[in-house]
Amino acid sequence: MSTNGFTTTIVHSDRRSTVEHGAVHKPMHPSAEFAFADSRELTAVFQGKPGFSYARQGTPTTAALETKLTQMEEGAGTVTFATGMAALAATFFALLKSGDHLITSKFIFGNTNSLLGTLAGFGVEVSLVDATDAEQVMAARQPNTRMVFVESLANPGTQIPDLVAIGAWCQREGLVYVVDNTLVTPFLCPAKRFGASLVVTSLSKHVGGHGNALGGAVTDTGLFDWSSYPNIAEPYRQGKPTSWGLTQIKKKGLRDMGGTLSAEAAHRIATGAETLSLRLAKACHNALELARGLQHHPKVSRVRYPGLASHPQHTRAADLFGGHFGALLAVELADDVDVFDFLNRLTVFALATHLGDNRSLVLPVAHTIYYEMGPERRALMGIPDGMLRISVGIEDTADLINDFHQALA
Ligand SMILES: *Cc1c(COP(=O)(O)O)cnc(C)c1O
Repeated sequence: MSTNGFTTTIVHSDRRSTVEHGAVHKPMHPSAEFAFADSRELTAVFQGKPGFSYARQGTPTTAALETKLTQMEEGAGTVTFATGMAALAATFFALLKSGDHLITSKFIFGNTNSLLGTLAGFGVEVSLVDATDAEQVMAARQPNTRMVFVESLANPGTQIPDLVAIGAWCQREGLVYVVDNTLVTPFLCPAKRFGASLVVTSLSKHVGGHGNALGGAVTDTGLFDWSSYPNIAEPYRQGKPTSWGLTQIKKKGLRDMGGTLSAEAAHRIATGAETLSLRLAKACHNALELARGLQHHPKVSRVRYPGLASHPQHTRAADLFGGHFGALLAVELADDVDVFDFLNRLTVFALATHLGDNRSLVLPVAHTIYYEMGPERRALMGIPDGMLRISVGIEDTADLINDFHQALA
């Protein structure tokens, strides 16, 4: 592992692993299959020797991106996927069985919540708790509990779980601790240092950052001893026990389920990742300025942003996230403002779903990404009807503040 800093490591990662002709980028390898000059070599790769056989299971281009992500997370290995949801689905379905129990935060991304409903249909018990309080996570423990899942910063409500206490408890209890690190990335949140076993990331968001590629990843931090985990299939109980979990995710989750990242998308994401720290630092700065500007505005009833002293986990965010507070705001407007007219008056913010983009985006959540689940479930998950999710981009700060204010005027 290099001793260089976060950005230096990513920017020079490809070059340091010998690329043909001195190219500074790993080239795109669009080959579906990889041919061998020696038949014994072909069989060796099928039997576990590192190499490439069929692109569904990875290409040199996805492998180069996986190396970068592993370096960013200070991990032991990474598997990439076509989307963040593919990475989450592969993780849950590869590692959990009917009769197992999963503890998760009730403040999570809507599609992940929907996926956990599907998992429950296959006989996995799911408990939703308020994970900002580690006691509630511990109280949900059952004899069949295998895994704890949280988002390091919750989409869209900006809640922050007690990452450190939950991590320490999972380590004591021998539970797999899965952290979705999408909203803060390892630049803000070094999840391994907080005890995460697996880190899941939607690369479509900040890591890629340009709104031009979808991707997902699972990184094994190397902290979990999979020899104690009952669901690892016999063929994957080989080599170092710290690698068994990721091997099963790669075989059962990627190879069998097939949500593979294309070489083209991997290349775009890898290019985007080079500027992750610069973009995210600017977006966090913009988000803090916007939140401060809006918190006392008479037409705004509530601003949830971890950088504000009013946020319930403000101190935790300040302790854990390296002086940044993320680029996501949840805003509720005063009752006398028509939310839809307000949105239509915005000129800089794009009315779009997605987040972690260079462009600032805004979306009314109850009517869109949380529409399908209905009012009761929304209430349980703390999603009021008037909530706007604002993903702050890298634009000039004053333009964002001015746009919001003119649309409220
Ligand atoms: C967007 C998102 C996902 C899903 O990622 P996709 O790449 O869109 O499939 C998962 N978790 C969180 C926290 C997200 O914001």
